[in-house]
Amino acid sequence: MTQCPECEAVVQKGDKIEGEIFSCPECGVELEVTVAEPFAVALAPQEAEDWGE
Ligand SMILES: [Zn+2]
Repeated sequence: MTQCPECEAVVQKGDKIEGEIFSCPECGVELEVTVAEPFAVALAPQEAEDWGE
């Protein structure tokens, strides 16, 4: 069973593929599929815009 790291809702793999970004159905946080099998997710990296220096 894989859970959202933010709200601990159970996240179903469905037809997601490794590297896919999706929103948690419970809290809406962006998650990334880190491993397809066994299914594992992590918080998607926040937009790391290069603001220039
Ligand atoms: Zn969540």
